[in-house]
Amino acid sequence: MGKITGFLDFARQETPERELEVRIADFGEIYRSLSSEELSTQGSRCMDCSVPYCQSGILLHGMTSGCPTHNLIPEWNDLVYRGAWKDALNRLFSTNNFPEFTGRVCPAPCEGSCTAGLHGDAVTIKQIEREIVERGFREGWVQPRPPKYRTGKQVAVVGSGPAGLAAAAQLNSAGHWVTVFERADRPGGLLTYGIPNMKLDKDVVARRVKLMEAEGVRFVCHIEIGVDYAVDGLKPDFDAVVLSIGANKPRDLDLEGRELAGIHFAMDFLRENTRHLLSGDFRRTSISAQEKHVIVIGGGDTGTDCVATALRQGCRGLVQLEVLEANPSERPSDNPWPEYPQVYKVDYGQAEARNRFGQDPRAHTVATKRFIGNNSGMVVGVDTIGVSWKTLANGQRQAIEIPGTEATISGDLVLLALGYLGPEDPLLDRWGVQRNSSSNIQAPYGSFATSIDGVFAAGDARRGQSLVVWAINEGRACARECDRYLMGSTDLP
Ligand SMILES: Cc1cc2nc3c(=O)[nH]c(=O)nc-3n(C[C@H](O)[C@H](O)[C@H](O)COP(=O)(O)OP(=O)(O)OC[C@H]3O[C@@H](n4cnc5c(N)ncnc54)[C@H](O)[C@@H]3O)c2cc1C
Ligand code: SF4
Repeated sequence: MGKITGFLDFARQETPERELEVRIADFGEIYRSLSSEELSTQGSRCMDCSVPYCQSGILLHGMTSGCPTHNLIPEWNDLVYRGAWKDALNRLFSTNNFPEFTGRVCPAPCEGSCTAGLHGDAVTIKQIEREIVERGFREGWVQPRPPKYRTGKQVAVVGSGPAGLAAAAQLNSAGHWVTVFERADRPGGLLTYGIPNMKLDKDVVARRVKLMEAEGVRFVCHIEIGVDYAVDGLKPDFDAVVLSIGANKPRDLDLEGRELAGIHFAMDFLRENTRHLLSGDFRRTSISAQEKHVIVIGGGDTGTDCVATALRQGCRGLVQLEVLEANPSERPSDNPWPEYPQVYKVDYGQAEARNRFGQDPRAHTVATKRFIGNNSGMVVGVDTIGVSWKTLANGQRQAIEIPGTEATISGDLVLLALGYLGPEDPLLDRWGVQRNSSSNIQAPYGSFATSIDGVFAAGDARRGQSLVVWAINEGRACARECDRYLMGSTDLP
């Protein structure tokens, strides 16, 4: 701990962002950087509190508290304070393969459990993480590190999201030959075709993939295992398989009028936008919000990404409907530190929409009743009703419709951002991979072994839709068990 009174002497400095009205004119990243001096000051705010919940990565009341990759946060805060950036980078890479992703998109449960945040403002951990790794790339400290020897074992990783990438990087470092299969045209999973460019520039993903290729990982895109490549062909060809296929089956809203044109899943909207952005012109996207009044159904992060994307495409109006109540502005008493704070937030998309249209696009406690169409079969709006929430005797929550709150909202593009129902079926059904009651792959955390010998599972496909940082955690831990299966023991961290 460099400066004993740092947390008393200095205030938290928020991550600077590009101006709201400027950034919605493009898809460039929204973040800006702090200077080295400012970062050193922010690093000095770490108290080295002795019980660093920030790096614990535990689940409290089902919510993540602390960093799931157990980043050595107090250590690198201190190193940044002292200007020892290269040492900070080495400590960062010792627990997290891809801090350039988490330093941009992680919701930072570490900050929610930072001891400085107990009575004041948390240390700006996520910002420091991103700056450490970006400095590493700028200075040329991040170089390919191929393994010194090869075991001769072949591993197939199916799916190239953060779980698959982390598993591949670790297994490759252990000397196995790793082939990553991806059905999309580019690797990255939701890092590429889910999270929009303004949160994670796709060059950042491509930079990492290039580095992994230079280390010996082979990427094969445009191949859907179970469709283009027989699943039972994998086992004779490979000594072990890691399934990291994500949990991208979208939840639908089966209401009257669902068949109308102009109603799309959020993921299709976001993927098409990024696909066209990467091929040169997002305006050619097949699902455009340009000149449209957009209704986003779902108040979560995917909904927010839709709001921000629709703004950049030039929508005329926006509303985001959420059936749940808004979180309170302060931590409620049943959500104490170091739990993840369940408080009201204005995320980047809502801030942009408020700046563009004069108000936050969100409407809470609103349920959609039906989609309304015109004579041409196009959606023109939704009927809604207000709800209140009641807790039942068994502890479950129930939405009660409030008579007299019926309303019609006009809109000619409706985006469904209602969450996900687990991994898609073809591969799992054809191979007979056992699933659990949530329809995710049955593979206990710790062994990551599926019902098929030599086949492991990691990431959202195993735990359900989650976070990039958990996908990295699972990819690393799964690689360890896969290595143990192949070699009888493992040295992987
Ligand atoms: C719109 C959106 C925004 C998000 N924003 C954030 C955020 O800001 N921060 C955060 O931490 N998390 C965010 N998440 C969640 C995060 O992206 C996921 O938890 C994470 O990507 C899961 O990683 P994964 O590797 O398990 O799966 P995925 O990233 O889903 O990757 C799975 C890959 O497997 C491929 N695949 C599937 N089946 C096959 C097959 N049979 N053959 C070959 N390939 C196959 C898919 O094409 C996909 O590329 C977001 C999710 C969404 C949908
Ligand atoms: S990965 Fe996420 S939780 Fe971990 S230190 Fe970085 S921002 Fe915090």
